[in-house]
Amino acid sequence: MSNSFDLNSLVRANVLKMKPYSSARDEYKTDGRKMTFLDANENPFENGVNRYPDPQQGKLKQLLASQKGVSGNKILLGNGSDEVLDLIFRTFCQPQVDNVITLPPTYGMYKVLAGLNEVEDREVVLKTDFQPNVETILERVDGQTKLIFLCSPNNPTGNSFSEASVEKILKNFNGLVVIDEAYIDFSAEKSWLQRLEEFPNLVITQTLSKAYGLAGIRLGICYASEEIIGILNKIKPPYNVNELTQKRAHDRLSRPEEVSREVEAILQERESLRTNLSKMAFVKDIFPSDANFLLARVDDAAGKYEQLLKAGVVVRNRSNQELCENTLRFTVGTPEENRELIKKLTQLEA
Ligand SMILES: *Cc1c(COP(=O)(O)O)cnc(C)c1O
Repeated sequence: MSNSFDLNSLVRANVLKMKPYSSARDEYKTDGRKMTFLDANENPFENGVNRYPDPQQGKLKQLLASQKGVSGNKILLGNGSDEVLDLIFRTFCQPQVDNVITLPPTYGMYKVLAGLNEVEDREVVLKTDFQPNVETILERVDGQTKLIFLCSPNNPTGNSFSEASVEKILKNFNGLVVIDEAYIDFSAEKSWLQRLEEFPNLVITQTLSKAYGLAGIRLGICYASEEIIGILNKIKPPYNVNELTQKRAHDRLSRPEEVSREVEAILQERESLRTNLSKMAFVKDIFPSDANFLLARVDDAAGKYEQLLKAGVVVRNRSNQELCENTLRFTVGTPEENRELIKKLTQLEA
């Protein structure tokens, strides 16, 4: 680190002073005996979910910890990674005072959360190759810059950021670098999780919403130092991950071969979608992708979007984002869905 990293100086003063809310389920630590629980004002009649969920999601974290090779006290779980990102904003960014840096074109939630929390969003547009402009990013940092968001693989461009760029930012910024790895399971690049120990300012978010196929249960994951996780834990709503979610997530994580099989199928489909799209006259360019979608530059994105919609296929028009003029983002579907897309696009061509 060029200068010194001081975690406590980054935390909002009010949060630094707070003690975590202690829920009934937090106070009582099980010692294995069969107990009678008359502490939390629950309905005592069993139906599977009549009790509050484990506020620290111990069983689920243990499984994740063993699979990912990190200790459980370096993990925080949330109601989707969107909740995790919001917790990070509210822990570190003083409204109307602090600022964050984001790199458009990127995931829209960072800007929404900055707006919601009244935190200035300093945008540093990616270079034309969709890599971070590291010099400009570091120039925009000032004493109130708390967070830099790096989405890698990036949504909507699909590429991963070079290891050298990310490393330079980590080494030259004394705030937190949040790497959003929502698409990491589709990527051949290594997760930054492997280097968590090296960087005290590294925060990684992942999700079960994409490769794991569980967008409906809302489970987001944050990996960081034990100190950072401890502070985030202080302001986390005690029961933010419900019992059904904890169970379904545990079931799915227990069958990693199922997830791998689906990821493999999606990657194969992505490449056949690329081949088919590249044959179409209105497709000018298809960008490399480390994710489960393809960003393509077309002749008339708005027109094609509307025509597809009429034909019953919904894609994403990303044209209003910087560097993304006339682009459509295609999520990779099932083989049938992808055939349907290509068929409809061919009919538009005719
Ligand atoms: C889809 C997506 C997420 C997902 O967030 P969840 O709240 O966990 O569903 C996060 N980051 C990026 C970049 C995404 O594209």
